[in-house]
Amino acid sequence: MEKKVRVRFAPSPTGGLHLGGVRTALFNYLFAKKHNGTFVLRVEDTDQTRFVAGAEEYIVSCLAWCGIHPDESPQLGGQFEPYRQSERKSTYKQYAEQLIADGFAYYAFDTPEELDAKRKEIPNFLYGLSSRMGMRNSLTLSEEEVNELLKNNTPHVVRIKMPADEQVSFVDMIRGLVTFETNLVDDKVLLKADGMPTYHLAVVADDRAMEISHIFRGEEWLPSAPVHILLWKCLGWEDEMPGWAHLPLILKPDGNGKLSKRDGDRLGFPVYAQNWTDPKTGDMTKGFKELGFMPEAFVNLLAMLGWNDGTDQELFTMAGLIEKFSVERISKAGAKFDFEKAKWYNHEWIKQTDANGLLDIVKQEYAAKGVILADDQFTLKVIDLIKDRCNLLTDFVAQSEYFFTAPAVYDLPAVQSKWNAEKDAFFKSYIALLEDGPGAVELEEKFKALAVEHNLKPGELMLPFRIMLVGGKFGPGVFDIAVTLGAEDTKKRILAALAAFA
Ligand code: GLU
Repeated sequence: MEKKVRVRFAPSPTGGLHLGGVRTALFNYLFAKKHNGTFVLRVEDTDQTRFVAGAEEYIVSCLAWCGIHPDESPQLGGQFEPYRQSERKSTYKQYAEQLIADGFAYYAFDTPEELDAKRKEIPNFLYGLSSRMGMRNSLTLSEEEVNELLKNNTPHVVRIKMPADEQVSFVDMIRGLVTFETNLVDDKVLLKADGMPTYHLAVVADDRAMEISHIFRGEEWLPSAPVHILLWKCLGWEDEMPGWAHLPLILKPDGNGKLSKRDGDRLGFPVYAQNWTDPKTGDMTKGFKELGFMPEAFVNLLAMLGWNDGTDQELFTMAGLIEKFSVERISKAGAKFDFEKAKWYNHEWIKQTDANGLLDIVKQEYAAKGVILADDQFTLKVIDLIKDRCNLLTDFVAQSEYFFTAPAVYDLPAVQSKWNAEKDAFFKSYIALLEDGPGAVELEEKFKALAVEHNLKPGELMLPFRIMLVGGKFGPGVFDIAVTLGAEDTKKRILAALAAFA
């Protein structure tokens, strides 16, 4: 029988959620949904020194914003709870002990000072094959000494004993056969002096305990894979081993190395999904959400970082991604992050979302500025008119403010030098022709016919008209603006501007 698909996103709650982390969550989620499987959120918080308060809640909120909904999580519980590794502490030690009993791991008593001294003495010191017999551990000390040290609660760790002269191979679903030389891998710590497992032991123990069928994680974890594969084998679980897929790195825009939060700060774009405030320093790092990205666009652009469906199609809904997703189409090569392209996705998503779908967001943007938009019908018309001009949701206010408040200042240099009494007279007559009902095309026809009567070129009148209604040289078609404002408001704006232009 096919194994039931169970995948997990296993972040450590150490700070803001990098877009690469969200992409990992997304690919896990897509794979789960594609195969009617289960998507688990597991919080890997065994490293107390890196734990950051609030980071778990923040991760949960980022995933919810993206529409990546776990089936099992610390919040929801589930068949394999608890889903926080710190709450599973008691389950790991037995495995470390089993590995020691079977000769696959050993106790190491080296103090931090001793390790530091070694690192100073030997450049690129690796605790492993070449050095372990010169250290203080259960391979070099007598059984009595070890028992004595353990009895006295001497601080110690448990390390994996990497086998000599072997190769560890596995088939990665993206990379094919991957092989590591065991001699080059160090004896990673499995259990720390505080009794907590390290990531390596906990991840294997929990992937097995939670019956994880496939592991999708970032390429940065590839060097750890031989340790994990050996642990699955040494613990006697080889038959249950999940499938492996190491997702391509997300690279800096110039392709030179992994995209870091610092690159975002330096180049002026976000790297985190949502705003993150460091609880220690109070420093806030801006996220895609608050910058004005639609979650649909964010998910869409992340999916395309290292995957495509084999065609030129770039715009996908979550449902479309679930339908089309396939591991075969994930690339091995790193994907360059391009912020301009990211904005393009958002722009496309704004354009294809109907005004109703944007109404609440636009109202919130205004409310954040202290403006309450009460007339939904009017706001919807405005949104329809300007959404094509917005790359970010935060552009809506700047692009539409003049609809809700008549301009208080005008771009006078753009009109005054060419202003004259004929133009003034033209607009006074135009006012008389304005009434609600006709559409933009009719308004424009009337405008042009009247211009001819006044011996003026319509082209010379268009810009002043725009500046009367908008205040500046921007916005959608001026007759569309006039129709949306309505005859009364348009008249008022013309009269107010005529007074200012004179
Ligand atoms: N806790 C690891 C992280 O923070 C998970 C790596 C894995 O998926 O195995 O990314």
